[in-house]
Amino acid sequence: VPFDQLDGYIWMNGEFVKWGDAKIHVLTHGLHYASAVFEGERAYGGEIFKLTEHTERLHESARILGFTIPYSVAEIEDASRELLKKQGFTDAYVRPIAWRGSDSMGVSAQANRINVAIAIWQWPSYFDPEQRLKGIRLDIAEYCRPDPRTAPSKSKAAGLYMICTLSKHAAEAKGYADAMMLDWRGQVAEATGANIFFVKEGKLLTPTPDCFLDGITRRTVIGLAKRRGIEVIERAIMPEELEGFEEAFLCGTAAEVTPVAEIGKYTFTPGQITKTLMDDYTAEVQPKRAAAE
Ligand code: PMP
Repeated sequence: VPFDQLDGYIWMNGEFVKWGDAKIHVLTHGLHYASAVFEGERAYGGEIFKLTEHTERLHESARILGFTIPYSVAEIEDASRELLKKQGFTDAYVRPIAWRGSDSMGVSAQANRINVAIAIWQWPSYFDPEQRLKGIRLDIAEYCRPDPRTAPSKSKAAGLYMICTLSKHAAEAKGYADAMMLDWRGQVAEATGANIFFVKEGKLLTPTPDCFLDGITRRTVIGLAKRRGIEVIERAIMPEELEGFEEAFLCGTAAEVTPVAEIGKYTFTPGQITKTLMDDYTAEVQPKRAAAE
């Protein structure tokens, strides 16, 4: 079944519309000029994990792109929860998106209506579950995360995902699961839809998010590591350093914590720290399930 013909409902501009009827005009500014921002959230056991943080980031992403979302954080949260119930899922992926509409055509679109939609679907594992356990293979992307003077890198803006799709497609064409992107200075940045961590001598290393998304999962993982007494170092990481790293993993709302076995010519063995953080993350997002076990 094509994705635009699934069953259920999509919340669109304040109303629940049939999934297949949630349509926009072909002259939508968001389509032509990428004036759109979105979020990716996951529900576990009927609750959307860190819903407020995600919804606030959606508002902030829009502000950075120069527009105001016409629904408050509380209104979007209510709509997200209501839609989750209406869709009948307890565990699901939640995708809110806001974009400039089709009221006028051209680069300038000051008066175009700001539209908002939320879709929820089941997305069990972002990476192939079998590959996921032994560690996925990453290519090193040709395109780089841009200088923050070139693009508003703090915004989860649709336009920034052009680089991600190009990089992911190129990696997949070579048989890799994903790509690790460097930034414009040649430093390690992130994967195409997740942040990256390494383990060296029992310490956790991750790049400083100064030109890419400071993921909500990234911040959660840092908190979990600190709770375990694991030292976390945020600093610039050069790709050559990967030679001396023992473990590597990706983390993001969709990817959760995913071990990495290969990045280009560098290899890693998913080990105890990755395993511990995978388990701690599962317990963190599924408090009810963890408590019941
Ligand atoms: N970087 C990119 C490019 C992403 O798309 C995502 C997923 N939103 C992340 C990092 C991780 O962010 P989060 O943990 O907030 O999902």
